[in-house]
Amino acid sequence: MPTSLLPPRAGNPFLPVHLCFLAVFLFSAFLTVHEAIELKNNWEERQRAQLAEIQKNLDSRFQESIDELTYYERMLNYALMHPLDSSQTREAITRFQQLRQQTTWQLKLASLRSMPLNGVSDSWLTRDPLLQRSSDHINAELRAAMEFSFIMQFSDPGQDFHSRFWYISRAGFFISSRPPQSPQELIESYTTMTERPYFRDQAPNNPQRGRLRWSEAYQGEFKEGLMMTVSTPIVSNGYWYGVLSMDFTQTRIHGLMTEARHSLLQGKLLMVDRSLNEITRLHAANDTPLTPEQQARLEKRIRQLPDGVMRLGTQFSSWGKLKNVDAYIVNIQSLRQGMSQELGRVSLFLFSMWLLFVLLLVVAHQVIIRLVRRMVDLSAKLTWRANYDGMTRLLNRNAFFEQFVALAARSQQQKKPIAVIQLDVDHFKNVNDTWGHAAGDQALMRVAGVISRTLRKYDVAGRIGGEEFCIVLPETTLADAQAVAERIRIRLAAKTILVNCNATFNVTLSAGVTGSEEQGDYHAESLQATADRRLYLAKTGGRNRVVAED
Ligand code: GH3
Ligand code: MG
Ligand code: MG
Repeated sequence: MPTSLLPPRAGNPFLPVHLCFLAVFLFSAFLTVHEAIELKNNWEERQRAQLAEIQKNLDSRFQESIDELTYYERMLNYALMHPLDSSQTREAITRFQQLRQQTTWQLKLASLRSMPLNGVSDSWLTRDPLLQRSSDHINAELRAAMEFSFIMQFSDPGQDFHSRFWYISRAGFFISSRPPQSPQELIESYTTMTERPYFRDQAPNNPQRGRLRWSEAYQGEFKEGLMMTVSTPIVSNGYWYGVLSMDFTQTRIHGLMTEARHSLLQGKLLMVDRSLNEITRLHAANDTPLTPEQQARLEKRIRQLPDGVMRLGTQFSSWGKLKNVDAYIVNIQSLRQGMSQELGRVSLFLFSMWLLFVLLLVVAHQVIIRLVRRMVDLSAKLTWRANYDGMTRLLNRNAFFEQFVALAARSQQQKKPIAVIQLDVDHFKNVNDTWGHAAGDQALMRVAGVISRTLRKYDVAGRIGGEEFCIVLPETTLADAQAVAERIRIRLAAKTILVNCNATFNVTLSAGVTGSEEQGDYHAESLQATADRRLYLAKTGGRNRVVAED
């Protein structure tokens, strides 16, 4: 086998280019993703901060009402502990004794300065075991209620955030910032109020009982719409008198949310009670509703975390629990709403820049790959040209002798025979002179073609002079090499070379053959010298012949 003439291949020349670009791409993708995560975190932070601001505004407004409730609660407790004994309270007790059997009654003293006590009869109370007109407590409670009714005058329904507040007694009466307008309304109100959880949950031994207990959202009795109520039990010396409560209607909460809404907060804003029933919502334009599955996921998460953020498909939700109300504020916004904000625009810009970068990277990659390909092709061409003869496509003189020396050395090492054939075209000068130089070139190409086709793939042939060729045949005896030379000679002699449509000519060659066995020597130079000497003998012997001996 001939030794390869190409330099040892340095792996795939495209691989380092691919790897470099891949590394740059991955690094840029990593940086972009990192930046995007930073932006997302930043955006989530801002969402939460904006939501927290709304929460704070809502909480502070609720706080005012709760403070008022706490104030009245203290006042009632104090009045129950230290009942005021005045002519007016004594008169109230006397009036109560006269009225208590009536189905409905109103006890109003100094009507300009107090709110009325609105009551039902003794017998009415027997319907409900929670209700009780205890003779041990009724007088003290009436005195406290009278005081409460005086002070209640100072509350301003026009200014207050809560729509109504009232004291509802187990002893069959109530005082409200909005007194009933008819006996019918009075009895309906008392019935409804004592049936509502905000009253019943405050009974002693009830596990739900608590100071400032919030109801869930419910439909108000008198076309007031959806509302929530906060209640606190009035207990003195271990006796439960009733509850003090405040109503907050959807309309007022909605108004407050509209005021509190942060101008930068996109999407819809909802307030939901502790069971996540919607109390009210502020809609955004182009609002996309959540799917039932997304809604369920969000509710599950809110139950686990009082404050948090969550992605739901292309929507994003953040929420927070109010401090003063048993309710949550929830914001839900779509990707498009998020994108319309500053951070959204920055993300879009970042992403576009990255896409542009990747595009340029792809272009640069293609350009460099093309350059490398051209260099590889050029290098292959140069290597070929350095080793081969362009016209005959056989090895040139230098490359041939390099191969010859290497093959001879290997044959010697392996103790195998090697043979050499030296060839020269006969009377080639005449060919040139007769048919022209171009026809001579054509003849040379023919000779090379015949040689190439006659040889085995591991034989090596080279053009060592103008019309001289040399062949090395590894693992070949002298006799076999002579046969090969003979075959070449015969084949060439049989070829007709066309000059034009009227003229053809033939060329012949002479050959000298030698072998290492016969010579007992593997030196390329001496082998070639012997073959050349025999070629000369073939020439002098008449040409168109093969000589294999001296
Ligand atoms: P002989 O039979 O003794 O070999 O006769 P010859 O005419 O072939 O011998 P000689 O060495 O005198 O002539 C060789 C000629 O080959 C001379 C030269 O013009 C011609 N020759 C050498 N290289 C090329 C080539 O590349 N193309 C062509 N057309 N002719 C070439
Ligand atoms: Mg010649
Ligand atoms: Mg010659």
